[in-house]
Amino acid sequence: MIVETPAGLWCEAGGVHIDPWLPVPRAVVTHAHSDHASPGSAAYLCAADGEPLLRRRLPGARIEALPYGTRVRLGEVDVSFHPAGHILGSAQIRVERGGEIWVVSGDYKRAADPTCAAFEPVRCHTFVTEATFALPIYTWDSPSALIDEILDWWRANREDERPSVLFCYVLGKAQRVLAELHGRDDGPIHLHGAMWALTEAYREAGIALAPADRVTEDMRGRALARSLVLAPLSARGTPWMRRVPNGSQAFASGLMRVRGVRRQRAFDRGFALSDHADWAGLLSTIEETGASRVLVTHGWSAALARYLAETRGLETATLNTAYEGEAGELTPSEDRGGRLGARTEGAQDAQDGEESP
Ligand SMILES: [Zn+2]
Ligand SMILES: [Zn+2]
Repeated sequence: MIVETPAGLWCEAGGVHIDPWLPVPRAVVTHAHSDHASPGSAAYLCAADGEPLLRRRLPGARIEALPYGTRVRLGEVDVSFHPAGHILGSAQIRVERGGEIWVVSGDYKRAADPTCAAFEPVRCHTFVTEATFALPIYTWDSPSALIDEILDWWRANREDERPSVLFCYVLGKAQRVLAELHGRDDGPIHLHGAMWALTEAYREAGIALAPADRVTEDMRGRALARSLVLAPLSARGTPWMRRVPNGSQAFASGLMRVRGVRRQRAFDRGFALSDHADWAGLLSTIEETGASRVLVTHGWSAALARYLAETRGLETATLNTAYEGEAGELTPSEDRGGRLGARTEGAQDAQDGEESP
C-alpha cells in the first residue's frame, strides 16, 4: 500500500506522499521538523495541533489540518492522525484500505511531555518505526529527575555568576525544557533568537512555559551571568558565544547517555533528555501495535530490523528517509543519512531564518 520512491514514501491508492523530501502534489506530514516537512509541495495535510508550527516552517504553503482521530477519505484509503508524543502536533499517520492498516509513526516517544499529547498505540498490520536510539544502551531517566539536574546545575553556576548555556534543538526540546521549568524556575531565562518565533507559537497554542526573554545584541559581559540561556548547537564556536563569556556549557540530548560523547564534544554537562523513544520504548511500542511487519528508518535502523527479525520473528526491512537525528549530529550508524544525507542542525536554523547565529 505504501512504497519507497525517490521523493519519499508514496501511497498510490491515496494519491499522497508521507513526509516527502522532494516537492510533490500532496504531502501528508507527521510533524514540523525539517527532515519530515520539506518545502515546495502543492498541498499539505497535518494534525491540527501541528498546523501553527507547519505554517511557520512553510510560509505561504497550502496547508489543511485534521484533528487527531478524525478520518478522511483520500482516493481509496482512509487517513487519520494519532498522537506521537514527539513535539507539539506530532502525529502517527494511519492509512487503511479494505481492512489493511499501515501506521507511519514519524518520530515518537513514550516519556511524558507537557508540550504535546501523549503517544497513543494504534493497532496495525504494518508499522513504520524510527530507530534513532535503537540500542540497549539508550534508556532514559524520568524527565523530572533530569529537570532537577538541570536546575541544580543552573543554581550552582548562578552562585558563581556564570551563565548556564544549555544547547538544545530549536523546535521541541527548547519548549519542552521551558514547559518543565514552568513554576519551578527562579531566575532569568534567555533564548537564542532562532528559538523565539517557535516558542511564541507554543505559547499561542496555550502551553504553559516558563517566562523567557530573547538574547539581544547589547547583552554582553555580565548581562547573562545569572541566566539559563537556551541556544542551538550551531551557535557553539561562533561569535554569538561572546554574549555568554565563561559560560558553563551543557547539551540536552539523548546522545548524552553516552559519557564518551559528552567528553569528546567537551560539554561541561550532558542531560539525556530525548524526544525519541528509548530502546525499551521502541520494543514495547512495536509490540503494542500488534504489527506483523515492521519497517525501520532513522538512525540504528538495520540493527533494530535485525533484532526484531531474530528475536520476535517479525517481517522487517529498513527504509530510507530524510533524517536529521536528535541534534543533527548522531554518531554515524551503518544506515545513517538516507537519500539526502544527514542534515545538520545548522541547516535547520538556516531554515528557521530567525537570526543568524
Ligand atoms: Zn522529529
Ligand atoms: Zn525525524
